[in-house]
Amino acid sequence: MNKIRLHDKTFRPFIPNEQIEKAIDNVAAQLNRDYDGCSDIPVLLCVLNGSILFTAELMKRLTFNCEIVSMKLSSYVGTHSTGKTREVMGLTGSVKDKRVIIVEDIVDTGQTIVDLKKIMEEKGAKESKVCTMLLKPAVYGKNVKLDYVGMEIPNDFIVGFGLDYDELGRNYKDIYVLDTNMNYFILFGPPGAGKGTQAAAMVEKCNLCHISTGDLLRGEMAKGSELGLKAKALIEAGELVPDEIVEGMIENKFKTVTGVHGFLLDGFPRTIAQAEALDKMLDKSKEKVTAVVSLMIPDSMIKERIKHRASIEGRADDAKDETIANRIKTYHEKTEPLVEYYKRAGKYYEIDGTGTIEEVRQRISDLLDKF
Ligand code: AMP
Repeated sequence: MNKIRLHDKTFRPFIPNEQIEKAIDNVAAQLNRDYDGCSDIPVLLCVLNGSILFTAELMKRLTFNCEIVSMKLSSYVGTHSTGKTREVMGLTGSVKDKRVIIVEDIVDTGQTIVDLKKIMEEKGAKESKVCTMLLKPAVYGKNVKLDYVGMEIPNDFIVGFGLDYDELGRNYKDIYVLDTNMNYFILFGPPGAGKGTQAAAMVEKCNLCHISTGDLLRGEMAKGSELGLKAKALIEAGELVPDEIVEGMIENKFKTVTGVHGFLLDGFPRTIAQAEALDKMLDKSKEKVTAVVSLMIPDSMIKERIKHRASIEGRADDAKDETIANRIKTYHEKTEPLVEYYKRAGKYYEIDGTGTIEEVRQRISDLLDKF
């Protein structure tokens, strides 16, 4: 078995097909024992798309008469914890007054199972049992009985045998686990702290892809794209552009850039909401922010540094005193709370940003050696 590449990530072999088939044999034997000779016709509920392969393999082994229905759950609608609902997309047959066997590829936190059980009850099923190919016991936190479990696995990000990474990987007959341990560094600090200047050395030292949201936005402005036009007025006023715009740019880079050992985020996140969105993005592949490298300089030095940069780079938002003042204000109000956020997560590392470029570079380099 070889490693496989899906989008921007590499996965290594984890559970060979023979082991999966054996686990399915076991689950099928238990089901046959429990349902053989029953007078009713139980229904298998195939939860799309992940369970397609498991349901098919399981069904081939069942010796009692049964039906199959399938359905898909959309993702959560609304973000408030109280208002979380999931929508059913196409339950393909009736479960009314029937005994349902919910067939899942994987149970992790168990929220999907809770939702499915509730939906089955609402649709009038007589009972619903849970049959899952895989279970992550380390993260399963619900009180619902899992009646049939094929295999227990650690809390890793896996693909294959129906499971996907952004829709790829479902067709592999074996299961694979995420291979690379990518680094996600955040370069943090007030405007003018020297983030852009220091980024190049960090990128080279750790083979990172440098993502500067400011540069990306200026690129869009130069192209005159719709997004650039939207951002221009805000940037020139020293305001932040909407979270969704920068989050979309970041996610797109994560998905498309290959051949690096990680990313250096420069100018992102700039709000708590962006930091939360980043955590969510990384959590999809069970990854995390590695460290926040925070370049700190006193407020009195910020203006001086920006004026100096204006004379070299000619950025419009460096030109006016009013814009600079607003950027500093925005930084204190919206961005500085991130210090606490990352301190709480144990990821915050402060670097003295004063002194020569070389001195600061050395301090950062010493810190990076820890990761
Ligand atoms: P920078 O080059 O990082 O100083 O960014 C220049 C300007 O782009 C900022 O003052 C904001 O208007 C906008 N910008 C850059 N990154 C972000 C972000 N993460 N969120 C919102 N606005 C941003």
